[in-house]
Amino acid sequence: MTPEEFQKQLQEMMKKFGNSGAFPFPPGGDSTGNSPNQTGFTTEASKQEEEEKDLEEELNFSLHPKDVKDHLDKFVIRQDEAKKALAVALCDHYNQVHKVIRAEKEGEDPDQVSKNYTKQNILLLGPTGVGKTYLIRSLADLIGVPFVKADATKFSETGYVGADVDDLVRDLLRQADGDVEKAQYGIIYIDEIDKIAGAGDSGGRDVSGRGVQTNLLKLMEETEVSTRSPNDISGQFQMLVNMSGSGKSGGKKNKNSINTRHILFVVSGAFEGLTRIISKRMSQGSIGFGAPVSEVEDTDEEYKTLRFVNTQDLIKYGFEPEFTGRLPARIVCHQLSPTDLFQILKYSAGSILQQYEESFHSYGIETKFHDEALKRIAEFAAEEKTGARGLMTVCEKIFRGFKYELPSTSIKHLEVDSGLIENPSEKLDELLISVKSEMDLRQVTEIQNYFSDFSKKHGLELKLTEEATSFLINQAKVQQLTATQLCDEKFRDFQFGLQLVHKNTGKKVFELGLGDVGNPEKVLSGWVVESYQKAGDSSQPQPPASE
Ligand code: ADP
Repeated sequence: MTPEEFQKQLQEMMKKFGNSGAFPFPPGGDSTGNSPNQTGFTTEASKQEEEEKDLEEELNFSLHPKDVKDHLDKFVIRQDEAKKALAVALCDHYNQVHKVIRAEKEGEDPDQVSKNYTKQNILLLGPTGVGKTYLIRSLADLIGVPFVKADATKFSETGYVGADVDDLVRDLLRQADGDVEKAQYGIIYIDEIDKIAGAGDSGGRDVSGRGVQTNLLKLMEETEVSTRSPNDISGQFQMLVNMSGSGKSGGKKNKNSINTRHILFVVSGAFEGLTRIISKRMSQGSIGFGAPVSEVEDTDEEYKTLRFVNTQDLIKYGFEPEFTGRLPARIVCHQLSPTDLFQILKYSAGSILQQYEESFHSYGIETKFHDEALKRIAEFAAEEKTGARGLMTVCEKIFRGFKYELPSTSIKHLEVDSGLIENPSEKLDELLISVKSEMDLRQVTEIQNYFSDFSKKHGLELKLTEEATSFLINQAKVQQLTATQLCDEKFRDFQFGLQLVHKNTGKKVFELGLGDVGNPEKVLSGWVVESYQKAGDSSQPQPPASE
């Protein structure tokens, strides 16, 4: 859009809304699929009120690294070394943030406070699905800061690299409910960072990755990002209204932009091929630092090597030296073993098992998962090589049929043992057959009771053949009626017809076969007509009986 077009649109909007400043926020979500901004436009006065909000009280700054690790232990299984390193980096960062907030509150110069501090942005290495995002999301929850996540690949793909990278910061603002101050202390998580490595020794993707690195670097250092996207016309309009308004900025910071200086950046990736670079360097005699061996004994080989990653390895992999320089905290997560996956199923808060239990429970079905079943699920999941995500894939496959069929049966309890995990469809068939015969038996008894009541009440016996009974059971199922309800519908007032037949013929026992129960009334009319014919015949003089 040209500046002239933009101005024209603004004028039209001014006319439409009478320049009142009350203007709805445009719909739409953020780049991570998070919910759209709920704040709408705020007036300058309400913005100032927000400024007064005490972030010091709102955010959790009183934590020690051990508290942080204890919190993470509740959610994330294993990854102990990563948890400790993260706890330290996080406490350092937010202690610093705390000092800055204090200084601002007390009218001191916050720049003085942070002049000797280097931000602890984090590079998180490790395979997919092992808890990298989960760790950081749990940390953001613990501190109370906003969190956004995006994949690095999307920036290089769009072509509008700079604008997209800035959108991450605006997403943070949305997560902070429009609170600029709070957004400035949030966490931005960028996954698949290895995919934007340039053409290093790893055969990294392409040169455009370097451009993305440069843009991210700007954010990681310090820059001001406008709170309104350049593509957001109404947002730009609001900014103009604010800027041309009463000038009540009160000497406070510019609230039309977000400063990225204290935003914590976490970038992560699986870094395929990086171990080759590290191993090669190490075989040439340069070892570097790693964790004490005892802590890593039962982890995978890749992890053991990645722990020795250094700046030179990352540069060789295809990262710009300045970019790696902005990521001082390097933390590695290991692959999850079948035992770890079992622990996740059994012990981690909010585990997928709880989701399954709750989902069955909502249909009134209680589940019991035996440990040996969980172990089998964990073994199958480990074969998927997608970390804890494999648990979801495996459980989905195993329980899909049960989730579909069981809610429509009378089953109220599901025993999940290793037999069910090994052969889910066989086990499901068995269960369905057993409930079907159980159900049929109940229905047969219902029908028998119905007709025995009928004969007690009316002194006439109505009998059904076996085929006719199962026909009625099926019909009841199709019409979603109980057997009694169906019989009520079909045989209501049946006694009147039968009494006529009885009067005419003296007959007391009647039988209905398969061909009769579809439309018993028609059969009954036939019987009645026939009985009158017989009665008529018998009033005529009869020939003498031959026997
Ligand atoms: P990634 O390492 O690819 O970022 P995530 O952290 O997104 O993987 O993990 C996906 C999901 O798997 C998480 O939301 C969590 O439910 C589960 N999960 C992964 N690792 C662990 C773990 N170590 N402990 C408990 N749950 C985990």
